[in-house]
Amino acid sequence: MSIARIFAEADKAGKEVAELTSGLVRFNSAHPEGRTDEVVPYIAEYLEKHGIEHEVHAQDPKKPNIVGRLPGKSNHKILWVGHIDVVPEGKSEAWKYPAYDGVITGGVVHGRGSSDMKGSCAAAMVSARILSKMRLPHPVEFWFTADEEIGGGAGAKWLAESGRLKGDVCVIGDGNGGGAESPSIDLGCKGGAQTRLIAKGKTAHGSTPFLGDNAIMKLIKVIPEVYKIGNFKLELPAELNKPIRDSVKFYMGEAKTPELQRNVRRLFNYPTVTCNIINGGVKINVVPDYAEAEFDIRLTPGASVSAVRNEIERIVKAAGVPGVEVAAGRETHAKASGKLGDKAGFYEDPNTPFAKQLTNTIKKATGKRPSVKILTGGTDGISTSKIAGIPSLGYGTSISGVAHQPNEYITVENLILGIKVYGAFPYFYKP
Ligand SMILES: [Zn+2]
Repeated sequence: MSIARIFAEADKAGKEVAELTSGLVRFNSAHPEGRTDEVVPYIAEYLEKHGIEHEVHAQDPKKPNIVGRLPGKSNHKILWVGHIDVVPEGKSEAWKYPAYDGVITGGVVHGRGSSDMKGSCAAAMVSARILSKMRLPHPVEFWFTADEEIGGGAGAKWLAESGRLKGDVCVIGDGNGGGAESPSIDLGCKGGAQTRLIAKGKTAHGSTPFLGDNAIMKLIKVIPEVYKIGNFKLELPAELNKPIRDSVKFYMGEAKTPELQRNVRRLFNYPTVTCNIINGGVKINVVPDYAEAEFDIRLTPGASVSAVRNEIERIVKAAGVPGVEVAAGRETHAKASGKLGDKAGFYEDPNTPFAKQLTNTIKKATGKRPSVKILTGGTDGISTSKIAGIPSLGYGTSISGVAHQPNEYITVENLILGIKVYGAFPYFYKP
């Protein structure tokens, strides 16, 4: 009864969810500022209008988070968590529709954040609106967070560390749930072992370079060496064998060339590595005495961060370039020590009742049994799972391959599926 009602209401909510997505996109919450202080009042207004209890939680007043709360009969609380910050839009010429206009064209909403993941947040808002008129078996909290794209600092990470995120299970609305065609659940996501290389030399006048020791040249020699970490076979828990096989199959769908296919086959058993920032030099006529490079290195959940760190140190030492050393990277999803532990990322066992109940919800909404996969990028699930200790599974509405790209978009069809899954899950959940 209740599930049929939720699905029927979701089917009628296409216009509402498209307009909400567009409304969320129009507030620029892109990093590096990552401000959510305009988008949060917009969400608050919607929740208020529908009589849903809500609260704002802010560590940084420019980056508030908001929660909408629905009461339920049991004391087994379900959390839904999604983020409202986005990555920068990049070059505006690359966009067909302006990144923050939230243009709606026949069944599609365009703009930065539409897929990752303001569309999913809009779907959750509509789910909350539908559920608010019903008597729920379990209380539900819908959290909309800041800072996910930079590791959750003033968002989920802070909310978890300060004890604000409490619940029995958590559905993460991030990621690509495969739409109606190839539905899938995210068991977890990769973690990072971000690494910084520092090169020190000796400065001199640019006209007499032989009197100096060029730090940039040293860095250039060692950067390719660090890429060798991409051949370091990861030791992974046996229970991930099947999810890894399924994940490779899922990502293989997007790999059109033999080269890409080779990379997808290696995607979970080896780290990925990419040097994304280089800094060095002050003036054209000064030999630089300092240069640094930063590497984004990603590991399958369950892999040891310190084993990878140790191997990078060994590789750099073996390169034998004096004055070059490995420094800890910036704050990452999985630090080598401290509260997040030594294991990269997080994952949930695919055989738990929670995983089965979410599977059944998605099966009901799509008519297909969802596969399980591991996300290559990090999500707020790292904080809800590893810091708050709440079993966390992901089901997102995102379109494959458009997140963080120009011309990001989302289909209303996927959003309606999101409304159904987020709305119906409380009726499938049996603690
Ligand atoms: Zn995201």
